[in-house]
Amino acid sequence: MPKDPDSPEPHTNPASNERAPISPADVKRALEAGEFVPYFQPLVKLRTGQVAGFEILARWQHPTLGLIMPNDFIPLAERDGWIGALTTEILLRALACAHMIPAPLTLALNVSALQLRDPDLPQQILAVLTAGRFSAERLVIEITESALVGNVDHARAIARRFKAMGCRLALDDFGTGYSSLRHLQSMPFDKIKVDRTFVASMTRRRDSRKIAATVVGLGQSLDLITVAEGIETTEQAEMLLWLGCDLGQGYLYGLPSPPEELPNIIAAPPIRIGTGENTSWKTAVSSYLDTQPAQRLAHLQAVYDGAPVGLAFIDRNLRYVNLNRRLADMNSISVENHIGRPVAEVIPALFPLFEPLLLRALEGEVITGLEMKIPASGIKPEQTRLLSYHPAIDEAGEVVGVSLACVDITDRKRVQEELRQSEEHYRNMVEFNPQVLWIMNPRGENIDMSSRWERITGLTKEYALGHGWLEIVHPSDTQPILDALASQPHNAAPVLVDFRLRHNDGHWHWMRLRGVPHFNRDGKIVHWYGSIGDINDLKLTEEALRADARAHSTGPGNLPS
Ligand code: C2E
Ligand code: CA
Ligand code: CA
Repeated sequence: MPKDPDSPEPHTNPASNERAPISPADVKRALEAGEFVPYFQPLVKLRTGQVAGFEILARWQHPTLGLIMPNDFIPLAERDGWIGALTTEILLRALACAHMIPAPLTLALNVSALQLRDPDLPQQILAVLTAGRFSAERLVIEITESALVGNVDHARAIARRFKAMGCRLALDDFGTGYSSLRHLQSMPFDKIKVDRTFVASMTRRRDSRKIAATVVGLGQSLDLITVAEGIETTEQAEMLLWLGCDLGQGYLYGLPSPPEELPNIIAAPPIRIGTGENTSWKTAVSSYLDTQPAQRLAHLQAVYDGAPVGLAFIDRNLRYVNLNRRLADMNSISVENHIGRPVAEVIPALFPLFEPLLLRALEGEVITGLEMKIPASGIKPEQTRLLSYHPAIDEAGEVVGVSLACVDITDRKRVQEELRQSEEHYRNMVEFNPQVLWIMNPRGENIDMSSRWERITGLTKEYALGHGWLEIVHPSDTQPILDALASQPHNAAPVLVDFRLRHNDGHWHWMRLRGVPHFNRDGKIVHWYGSIGDINDLKLTEEALRADARAHSTGPGNLPS
């Protein structure tokens, strides 16, 4: 339909796109006929999805035009002076349905900018509340931010009257008007409602997200309840919950609905968010978000300062945002001289070592357990540090900085090195010993042999395990060995057994086993420690001497004459 430029700005029903000029007579008739009705949109607790109350939104049920939306008649009501009558009418009708809204659920009523100049407004509302037997404590008066421009003194006086009645005050459309902070300070608000334009774009636009986060943070620090409007997706709801927002309102939780829908909305199962896949971290964080930001900061600082490791948070520009004293001490620079300054400036000599790691973490890589030698400088000796770099990811999945943890393991490393050296000495002592060193249990089962065993027998150490070693002991010598090891000497006297062992040359060699018992607390032998040494030459010499002696004793010179 072509627009007639001379006609007064027509009312448009967006649903049908029909034009219909509204006359004062129309309005009078509509008010009398009860065509203005309240719709109810639920406000829910983001954490639990439970309904906390409803916002009353006006609708005009026009007999021929159908349902007319408030943006199409509220400006007219303000301009033509029937906004007061409309407000009381809508509240009266809403309270007629209040029996369907159990306490402590609240009702929120929108009040126009213009009405904040009317000193009788609180009294009129009180009269309706009394008539409807509805407690003023359960009524929230929503004042749009733009309403506060110009007439703050009037508005403040009226707001105080509402507060005195027991009503609560919400600052609507927060973030869209002017001098918001001044209003927040001068007016006794209980709630702020984050405007839906920020919510709509917060999952896509970083700046909207920052504004939403700031508004929520501001509300929390002023001890106000924060409400987010226009939530349409679970992603938005999750992000708002994660930011610490208390209440949510929007199509996700329920459309503005006629009164007959109230019981259904209240009885419907709550929409809980943050319980799906990949959101466990958000749920975990959400309980933490119960606390106020100031408390959270104190909490975080306590964690930082109490941690037995050096900690720092470094932003995308590679500047120290926060760090604890332990890390400051490692750098030999005060905490204050770190904060806000670039890493490159604070520790220029070490920066080339750390920069690649920081950049990798900013790309999203998690680096843990990295050992790094920090070269000696001045009087400071070389140090070894164990480093971890974790990307810090914000609610939209972007890396906003790096959390770094650092432990000085110089002492631990030194002890490890000493231990390694001493182990090496022991190992060499054992391996280079000309004797076979061994450990056995009282049953004569071998637990370990030194590698000398392999060289003299040509068999592996594994072969010798258990009773394996006895297989190359002369059969007549095995029992004396087993008997000796099974004995229970009262003192720790070593046992000595001479026996024959087949060497890799295929011959029997005389060996001497020497073992010392090791007792447990009950005085029982648990292990034997000992050695096996080659005494073949000794034995052969002995035998030769003995044979010689025999020969002499039976020789002709000694024969009886
Ligand atoms: P408002 O106070 O900001 O109310 C919220 C508006 O956002 C409502 O529009 C609601 O339908 C809409 N909304 C709710 N959830 C969503 C969502 O998820 N996505 C989107 N895109 N919109 C959502 P509605 O009902 O058209 O009301 C428009 C405005 O008219 C209200 O904005 C309020 O400022 C004013 N208004 C409504 N009823 C009254 C009234 O009784 N008195 C006065 N003075 N103003 C009223
Ligand atoms: Ca509102
Ligand atoms: Ca709003």
